[in-house]
Amino acid sequence: MGDSFRHVPRTPPWSALGFVALSPSFRLGDLRAMDPVSALPLLDVRVPDVYQRLDDTSAYDFLEAIRFPERARHLAFEVFSRSFFADPRQLSAAEMALMFHIYFLGSAEGLLFDVPRSPYPAALWGPLAGYLERHGAEVRTGSTVEHVAPARGGGFEVAGDREERRHDAVVLALDAIGLRSLVARSQRLGDPAWRERVARLRNAPPFLVTRLWLDRPVAPDRPGFLGTSGFGGLDNISVLDRWEDEAARWAARTGGSVVELHAYAVDPGAQRTAEERQLVEQLHRVYPETRAATVVDVRHEWREDCPLFPVGGYADRPTIRTSDPCLVVAGDAVRTDLPVALMERAATTGFQAANALLERWGLRGQTLWTVPDRGRAAVLRKAAAWAGR
Ligand SMILES: Cc1cc2nc3c(=O)[nH]c(=O)nc-3n(C[C@H](O)[C@H](O)[C@H](O)COP(=O)(O)OP(=O)(O)OC[C@H]3O[C@@H](n4cnc5c(N)ncnc54)[C@H](O)[C@@H]3O)c2cc1C
Repeated sequence: MGDSFRHVPRTPPWSALGFVALSPSFRLGDLRAMDPVSALPLLDVRVPDVYQRLDDTSAYDFLEAIRFPERARHLAFEVFSRSFFADPRQLSAAEMALMFHIYFLGSAEGLLFDVPRSPYPAALWGPLAGYLERHGAEVRTGSTVEHVAPARGGGFEVAGDREERRHDAVVLALDAIGLRSLVARSQRLGDPAWRERVARLRNAPPFLVTRLWLDRPVAPDRPGFLGTSGFGGLDNISVLDRWEDEAARWAARTGGSVVELHAYAVDPGAQRTAEERQLVEQLHRVYPETRAATVVDVRHEWREDCPLFPVGGYADRPTIRTSDPCLVVAGDAVRTDLPVALMERAATTGFQAANALLERWGLRGQTLWTVPDRGRAAVLRKAAAWAGR
C-alpha cells in the first residue's frame, strides 16, 4: 500500500484532513475507533508547553492512547519518529507532536521537501565556507577541539590539535556525545548543574546509510524518495540520479542508477555485515527489478551521532545560554522556544547563539522565521485548550 503527499492540499488544516481522506491507510472503521480527545493536543502545539504536556509520555504510548490506526501509524507517525533515529517506545511524544505540527498543521510548506541539486559539499558547505572566508573567518573542519577553559582576564583558551588559542567567546556546536565528552575533558567550563545535565545527554542508536551504484536503471515509475515501513530495517529508498546532478551524470554515462538506502535505530548489538546484506535484500523486495542488477560499487556508512530525545529528557537538554555570557551552545539537541526540529533546530539555535553574543557587543542579530508557534485554526486551538483543562 502506498501513500503520497503529492496531491494532499497544502493549507492547514486541510493538509491533515486531506491526507486522512486520500490515504488508503485510514479506513472509516479505523477513524471511528480513534479517541479524538486524546488526539487534541496535536491541534495546538506550542513550544515549550508541548513538552510540559507530553514529554513524560513515549511516542508509542501516545499513539496507543489515541488508538491511531495500525496501518496509518506505520506510515504517518513511525516515519516521523524514526526520522529522529529512535524507536517510538524511546522517543518523547512531545518531539513527535512537534514534528506533526511542523509537517501538517503549522504551515503550508511542511509536506514537500526541497533538496539540493548537487551533493552537499558542492551545493552548501563549499559556498558557505567561501562566504565565511571572504569575511575573514578561518574554517578548520579537520581539527578536533580537545579542551576549552576560561582564560585569565576573560575569554577562553581553546586547545586543539597541537595548539592553543585565546578567543573572546565560544559557541559549542557539537553533536550530543561530542559535547558531553568535550565538557567532561574541560573541567572548568560552565557551572556544576550545567555540566551534570550535559553529562546525561545520549545519542540515538546507530544508523546505516548504504549507497549502491547499479548497472541498470530502476523502473521508470519509482519516485525519487520513498519512505517505507514493514520492510525489516529499511526506512527509506532514494533514487539519487532522479534529483542529484553528480548521480544523474554517472547514470547517463553508464546506463545504471544510484540508489541510497537508510536504516535508522539499528539494534546496537546487531551484526553489521548481516544488517548491510539484509538492507539490500529489502530493496529487492520493494523494487524487484533491482534483483537482477549487478552492484558496480557500494558504500556502507555507519554512524551514531544523532541525539536521542528520550521520554522525560527535555529538562536535561542544554539551552543556548549558559551561566557564562560568552559561552553559548547550538545544535539539534539544544532547547529552544521555537517550533523547529532536526537540521532546522541546529540552524536556528546556531543563529540564536550568534545573536546572544552579538547582543553583548551591541550588534543587531539575525531575524528568525519559523512556522507559527501555535495551532493555526482558532477553533482547533480552543478544542485543544478544552482537552488540556
Ligand atoms: C542520514 C541522515 C538523514 C537526515 N535527514 C534529515 C532531514 O531530511 N531533515 C532534517 O531536518 N534533518 C535531517 N537529518 C538530521 C540533521 O542532519 C541533523 O539534525 C543536523 O546535522 C544536526 O546538526 P548539528 O550541527 O547539531 O550536529 P552535527 O551535524 O552532528 O555536527 C556536529 C559537528 O561537531 C563535530 N565535533 C564533535 N566533537 C568535536 C570536537 N571535539 N571538536 C571539533 N568538532 C567536533 C562533529 O564532527 C560534527 O561535524 C538527517 C541526519 C542523517 C544522519
